[in-house]
Amino acid sequence: MARKTVDTLLELSIKSLLSNESAAIQAVEELPIDLFVPLFTAAFLRRQKEVLKAMVRVWPFRCLHIGALHPQESNYDIMEAMVDGLQLLPAQNSSSRGTKLRILDLRQDPEYGITCSYRAKYPVCFLSCVYSQHSIINIEEAELNARCYGKDTIDSRSQSVWQPMELLVDLSFNCFLRAKQFISLLINKTEQSLGSLHLCCRNLQIENLSVQKNSLKIVDLVCTDRLELDKAHLRDVNTLLSQLINLESLRLTDVECRSYTGKNFKTFLTCLGKLNSLEELTLSFFSLTNQLHKLLRVLTPQLDTLSLTFCDLSTRDLTALSQSTQANHLKLLKLSNNQLVWEFHEPLLNLLENVSGTLQYLEINNCLITDSTLSAILPGLSRCSHLRIFSFACNPITMPVLMNILQHLTTLMELRYVIYPVPLDCYNQSDFDGSLDQEKVAAMKAQLKLMLRAAQREDMKWTAFPE
Ligand SMILES: [Zn+2]
Ligand SMILES: [Zn+2]
Repeated sequence: MARKTVDTLLELSIKSLLSNESAAIQAVEELPIDLFVPLFTAAFLRRQKEVLKAMVRVWPFRCLHIGALHPQESNYDIMEAMVDGLQLLPAQNSSSRGTKLRILDLRQDPEYGITCSYRAKYPVCFLSCVYSQHSIINIEEAELNARCYGKDTIDSRSQSVWQPMELLVDLSFNCFLRAKQFISLLINKTEQSLGSLHLCCRNLQIENLSVQKNSLKIVDLVCTDRLELDKAHLRDVNTLLSQLINLESLRLTDVECRSYTGKNFKTFLTCLGKLNSLEELTLSFFSLTNQLHKLLRVLTPQLDTLSLTFCDLSTRDLTALSQSTQANHLKLLKLSNNQLVWEFHEPLLNLLENVSGTLQYLEINNCLITDSTLSAILPGLSRCSHLRIFSFACNPITMPVLMNILQHLTTLMELRYVIYPVPLDCYNQSDFDGSLDQEKVAAMKAQLKLMLRAAQREDMKWTAFPE
């Protein structure tokens, strides 16, 4: 009860302080250290950007992360205020007064608290950059080495008038004015810092690469572990990939490649082969007909996510996938929207058997899968004991086969969500262009519900598409 009372008093005093913004801004100069985190949290939730800016200016800890406060992507105003409040510190600063902030983290990462060094005796930040030459850790290590090797002073080239600092931020380079304004603020701030501020971008999104090339110069690509790129020429993608050596996730959409025998595609494969940490590869609208075997050969065996939608895959590509050791440990596999010709069922059956020990998510929507294909791959599918989500919407199948699938899949105890196509039997004409007979759809759903109840698997959610 006593604790609850204290909390309430604290909350009340913070609320009262924040109700007078200019008083709050003045108060942060003298604020007891223990009140920084609760006041910052309250001001953030109330979106009081001027108070936040003032608090960043005098922040008494080494790091500040806003991820735990679940910021929205549209928080540009707040992020700008905080960047504005970031103080560059003189290199010789050893004073205990003023800000101690060296790492400002504006990413949406809820895993860590607002600061790592709260109450800690030694200031450490668990999220500081380890890759860039301009990171605090690497600069301080270089300084230490210089001292150990007897150099009186550090190389004048690396010596800055300001202490090294880091700004961790996920960046989106697109055509929206607000995003552009934010990027130009960052450019100004980094220029102002004379190289002492390291802009650390781990999650990078780029729309239309050819028009963003110049702005991208502010990003040290060695730090980026996730890249999402929409609309680009393969030649420009290669230039980027050659620098992204620590990439864990790569998503490419709408990449232009004129020839698969030309230099650009070969360079692309070389760059992919150097991404030793790659776990997730997503390609969309990337025509790969009969070329997938080349791509699979260069990928790392730890790949756990592979999405190849709208990639014009052929039976040969599917065969390559089923024979590739790189695809043996997949947790997520998406092959939707490839108009496959199902002369043979073995490739997909073999593929499912290969990944049966790890696969959790399977999506094969709109792949022209018929009754015979689905029945043929069912033994492989039934072995995927870790499968949680299975989607096979927009494929021409009939009611008896749908019921047979349901009966087999109810044995997969981890499977929770299934998205299935409305069977051909429920259309007024027996083709996809016909309209749905709603009475038949209702009867079909009732039948599936009964079957799930009989199998004691009402925990599974079966959703028809279209509904
Ligand atoms: Zn930290
Ligand atoms: Zn970095």
